[in-house]
Amino acid sequence: MSKQFNAFAMAQQQFDGVAEKLGLDAGMRELLRWPRRELHFTIPVKMDSGQVKVFHGFRVQHNDARGPAKGGIRFHPDETIDTVRALATWMTWKTSVVDIPLGGGKGGVICDPHLLSDREQEQICRGWIGQVVRLVGPVQDVPAPDVMTHGQHMLWMLDEYEKITGGRYPGFITGKPVGVGGSLGRTEATGYGVMYCVREALKRLSLDISKCRASIQGFGNVAQYSAKKFADLGGKVVCVACWDNTDKKPYTYKKADGVDADFLMKISDRFGTVDKAKAKAAGYEVLPAEAWVEQEVEVLVPAALENQLTGELAPKLKPTVKLIAEGANGPTTPEADKIIQQRKIMDIPDFLANAGGVTCSYFEQVQNNMNFYWTRDEVLQRLDEKMTAAFHAVADLAQRKEVYMRDAAYMIAIERVANACHLRGWA
Ligand code: NAD
Repeated sequence: MSKQFNAFAMAQQQFDGVAEKLGLDAGMRELLRWPRRELHFTIPVKMDSGQVKVFHGFRVQHNDARGPAKGGIRFHPDETIDTVRALATWMTWKTSVVDIPLGGGKGGVICDPHLLSDREQEQICRGWIGQVVRLVGPVQDVPAPDVMTHGQHMLWMLDEYEKITGGRYPGFITGKPVGVGGSLGRTEATGYGVMYCVREALKRLSLDISKCRASIQGFGNVAQYSAKKFADLGGKVVCVACWDNTDKKPYTYKKADGVDADFLMKISDRFGTVDKAKAKAAGYEVLPAEAWVEQEVEVLVPAALENQLTGELAPKLKPTVKLIAEGANGPTTPEADKIIQQRKIMDIPDFLANAGGVTCSYFEQVQNNMNFYWTRDEVLQRLDEKMTAAFHAVADLAQRKEVYMRDAAYMIAIERVANACHLRGWA
C-alpha cells in the first residue's frame, strides 16, 4: 500500500468515525466519502532543450455544496491522485469548520520545480488552466498556491484563464501578490489565526497569557507569525525549532527569557532556516531537534511538518503543558493523539488552528469580487472575528458533548456539509 493511498484511506477513516457519531445515513456517508468530481490530464510542454515532455496533472473537487470548491495546487515529484483526494477532503472540513461559504478542492502536477526553468514552469501553469478551464472559475472552484507554488504561478494561471474567458476575473484564484489582486494580511494570516485560537483557549483554561510560555516547532511562515503574535499578546516564546542548512538537520533554539522573533527572522532565510552561528552568538542555546517537545511551557505549537509529535515523544511532554495548537497540517500521529487525550491536554486540531490562511484567501476573493480593497487592520480584524467564533463553537460542542476537540471540530464541519447536501436534495 503506498503512502499516498494511506492519506486518502486515512481521510475516509476519519470521516467514517465521525459519520458514525453523527448517525449519518448510508447515502450521505457514501456521498461524503468520495470527491464529487476529479480530472486527470496531461500537460505537454516544449522544454528549453527543444524536446516535448508530458506532465501529469489533477484537480479534485471533494465537495461544493456550501460554495465554490477551494484549495491549492501543489507541484511535487511524488504527487498522486490519492494525496490530492485526501487534501481536497480535508479542505472541505476546513472551510466548513470556520464557516466560510466555500467547499473543498485540491490540485497538483507531478513535477519538481527545482529542475524546471521559469519558462517551463509558466508553460505548466498555462497548460494546467487549459485543461481545467471548464471545471474552475470564481463561482465554481477557486485555486490557490500550495507546496512549491507561489504568487507568480497564480498570476500565470490567472492570465491564461482570462485569455481564454475574455474578461478580468481576479477572484478566480487567490494567493496573488498585493497590488495585483492579493490581500493585505495574507502573510500573517495563518500564524495570527493560530494565536487567536490560543488566546481564546487560554481564557477557557483560566490561564493568564502573560504568565504563559510557548515552544514552537518550525520557523517558517506559520511559526514566525505565531511567535510574533504570541509575544504581542503578552506571552513568552522560549524556543523555536527549525532546519539547519550547514549540518542538514534540525535544532531547537532556546532563550529562557524569550526569543526575539524579529531578530530570528533577520537571521533566517526565506525557507525559515535560522543561521545557527548568529543565533549562538546572540546567546541562544542550540539544543537537539526534539528538545522543543520537552520544555516547561504551557503551550506547544507544532508548526513545521506532519507526523512530528509521535507516540515516542508525547510521553516527554512536561506536566506544565496545557494546550497544543496544531499550526502544521497533521503534526500529531494517532498514537500521540491518544496520549494527549488521556492527559486531558486541550488540542486545537490542525484544520481549525491553521484555517486563518484559507479564511484570508476567502477575504481576498471577496475583495476581488467587490473590486474594493480593505486595509490590513480590517482584514486582520475580520480574521480574528472568524477564528474566534469558530474556536468557541468547537470548544462549546466539545464541552457540551464531552468529546475531544478534534472530534468536536469534525462533527461541526461534517454536519454543516451534510446539511447543505441534504437541503440541496443530494442525499
Ligand atoms: P515553511 O516551509 O515556511 O516552514 C517550515 C519550517 O519548518 C521551516 O522553518 C523549516 O526549517 C522547519 N522544519 C522543516 N523540517 C523540520 C524538522 N524536521 N524539525 C524542525 N523544523 C523543521 O512552511 P509553512 O508555510 O510555515 O507551513 C508549515 C506547516 O503549516 C505545513 O504543515 C503547512 O502545510 C501548514 N500550513 C501552512 C499554511 C500557510 O499559510 N503557510 C496554511 C495552513 C497550513
